Amino acid sequence: MNVLVVNAGSSSLKYQLFDTANGSVVAKGLCERIGIDGAITHKQLASGKEYSAQLPMPNHTAAMTYVVEALTNADHGCVKSMDEIEAVGHRIVHGGAYFSESMLLNKDVLAKLELCRDLAPLHTGAHIQGIEGCLAVMPNTPQVLVFDTAFHQTMPKEAYTYAIPTELYEKYAIRRYGFHGTSHSYVSAEMTKILGKVEGTKIVTCHLGNGSSISAVKDGKVLDTSMGFTPLAGVEMGTRCGDIDPAIVPFLMDKLNMNTTQINDYLNKKCGFLGVSGVSSDCRDLEAAIAAGNENAKLAMDLLGYQIKKYIGSYAAAMGGLDAIVFTAGIGENTASIRKRALDGLEFLGVEYDADVNEKTFGRNGVTELSTKNSKVKVYMIPTNEELVIASDTEAIVKASK
Ligand code: ADP
Repeated sequence: MNVLVVNAGSSSLKYQLFDTANGSVVAKGLCERIGIDGAITHKQLASGKEYSAQLPMPNHTAAMTYVVEALTNADHGCVKSMDEIEAVGHRIVHGGAYFSESMLLNKDVLAKLELCRDLAPLHTGAHIQGIEGCLAVMPNTPQVLVFDTAFHQTMPKEAYTYAIPTELYEKYAIRRYGFHGTSHSYVSAEMTKILGKVEGTKIVTCHLGNGSSISAVKDGKVLDTSMGFTPLAGVEMGTRCGDIDPAIVPFLMDKLNMNTTQINDYLNKKCGFLGVSGVSSDCRDLEAAIAAGNENAKLAMDLLGYQIKKYIGSYAAAMGGLDAIVFTAGIGENTASIRKRALDGLEFLGVEYDADVNEKTFGRNGVTELSTKNSKVKVYMIPTNEELVIASDTEAIVKASK
């Protein structure tokens, strides 16, 4: 089945056309600066043909019109007409407590998505515009919503509840939701295939990218996860602070004379690697700075390694054991020094890994075992593929609806 995967942000719209028969990407592209001026870059994978243009994109519907033109273009396109595309799968960041699985779009689903607007205003608004853009150019094509939060809906109450008055959960839906669900779902499922079973497995999945989250996956279901009400919580990230004492927030607002929007922006965009190192939000820049003797860059990386280690230990305790640790996403797949920082010292849990293999392991190598034969806990690098999960879910739901 040809499935178009759409990831709509506030001023961007990324797309990939999948042939689910073999999981291959047929074409992909990006519309940027939507609502400002507009630009599209598009690539047809088989021929390698590329196309880019500056085009007026006042909204996501206009952007989708250009996506349709690019996909059906006689030179760099890949389908004769949009009828050849049988379904659209949308990445949705926040499904609140309404969605525990991917859903076929209908009026009721769209109304529930509207109710999630409060939880992630910028993202949800952009997703709804992306959906409307697709409805405008492909009105008869089924659309499926795939939620970053859905995989985490299996968390028990004690894992998702914050120690604040219960009525705040009822009134404002304040609870832990968790994010990167498609990635945690994909790599944990791959890991259970390696372990040869789902029931009885205890896996910690470490999705480490610009945004990072760690999950405890027991019997194939999420028991706990590091991100919370929003994707600001958990471990240190590129520009996000992760977990800090909540009292720091009003303290900083006072000291730096910030309002709520400003403090939210500050904690999301000026902290993490960038804030601690003063150099960059990118791991590769930090490694270069460390090589040049920058102590704060080293502190930024040490901090993340230490935090990952603490999560692995606490999740092993929560699950009552540990069978496997999985590293994925930009840093998890490619940054050996972070994996080393996280794994060193976990021997007491039965973790033993091959330092040489770790040093030589990158995402482009594909699934790689880092643990030694004697290790009680398997350690793997598994490249994530969130778009493929969205395409597969979309295909399954559309087929089931026919
Ligand atoms: P996002 O959360 O934006 O999807 P990624 O998963 O692409 O982020 O991760 C980006 C992080 O991965 C950056 O800190 C980057 O330095 C790090 N990284 C290290 N090596 C590589 C690499 N070879 N390719 C991509 N990212 C890498």
